[in-house]
Amino acid sequence: MKTQRFLLLILFTALLLVFTGCSQSPEAKESPKEKTQTQKVSSASASKKNDLPTIKILATGGTIAGANKSKTSTTEYKAGVVGVESLIEAVPEMKDIANVSGEQVVNVGSTNIDNKTLLKLGKRVSKLLSSKDVDGIVVTHGTDTLEETAYFLNLTVKSDKPIVVVGSMRPSTAISADGPSNLYNAVKVAGAQEAKGKGTLVVLNDRIASARYVTKTNTTATDTFKSEEMGYIGTIADDIYFHNEITRKHTKDSEFSISSLDKLPQVDILYGYQNDGSYLFDAAVKAGAKGIVFAGSGNGSLSDAAEKGAVRAVKKGVTVVRSTRTGNGVVTSNGDYVKNDLLASNSLNPQKARILLMLALTKTDDPRKIQDYFNEY
Ligand code: ASP
Repeated sequence: MKTQRFLLLILFTALLLVFTGCSQSPEAKESPKEKTQTQKVSSASASKKNDLPTIKILATGGTIAGANKSKTSTTEYKAGVVGVESLIEAVPEMKDIANVSGEQVVNVGSTNIDNKTLLKLGKRVSKLLSSKDVDGIVVTHGTDTLEETAYFLNLTVKSDKPIVVVGSMRPSTAISADGPSNLYNAVKVAGAQEAKGKGTLVVLNDRIASARYVTKTNTTATDTFKSEEMGYIGTIADDIYFHNEITRKHTKDSEFSISSLDKLPQVDILYGYQNDGSYLFDAAVKAGAKGIVFAGSGNGSLSDAAEKGAVRAVKKGVTVVRSTRTGNGVVTSNGDYVKNDLLASNSLNPQKARILLMLALTKTDDPRKIQDYFNEY
């Protein structure tokens, strides 16, 4: 009797195990690791099956893809370690507003974005946007040089579909990381009809800025991106509100095209300060610079010594553009500077003047023509 009861108990337990095993969903049976991988594939292979816009996220690294052991430190972390799929998985809400998929272009801190990477990224953005299946692009990027990449795309990609560059100031592992909401907003803007034809946009901290006008102004604060002189072009407060127009040429109206670019000329930036010397220019010319941007004091001013060096460089066929170290305002064309072909950057800061000068030099070395570019773009 005892043996019979024991056998019945074993039979009952076995039936129970079989039954509960069958009733589990396939996902529930997977280990957490396998589950993550299943989600990864589905987010990466999202294809258009609804009315939502299709947005491609091209990841390049930066703090938004940064990680740290400590949740409280926002400065001691490694940038560019988290992959694009993890960035997408961290914001599943994006799937309610767009068909999102990702591609890793590079995974570096943005100080290591070089001309080769710019060209690679620009070509990929252009190729994707030429497909009718892609409605907009989001580029995730380190904030340090974000404005340079954004301005490069603004000048070279021939499409009126939205291109949005986004980053974050806090690593993905920090308390109150700003990356997820910035990324969500960037996807929202990239999928918006009203964002079309506005050139490359920069989205951080609930603000939408034009790549032409925005700059990083603070080393660590989350509200670092400012368009002080020209203003933001929009705000995100759940909905998107645009309130400024872009007056400078960009994307489809630009004379520069990523498809015809395979190499960019060397353009260096020199910084003006008390007691600077002409030898700075000589060194840049000797190192192969085809163009030099000078971050002058005030209205793009040069000391007598620096001006001597600049004029020497111009005589050797190097184009020199005066920008300003002040961070704001227009550098005007005037006096001896014009006579000596020392060009003016207009309202471009030194790092963006470098981008435009590289592109200008792929077309011409005529100083008048290059000055026109600075007045138009
Ligand atoms: N601190 C930078 C950032 O905010 C690092 C980088 O530019 O890659 O993303």
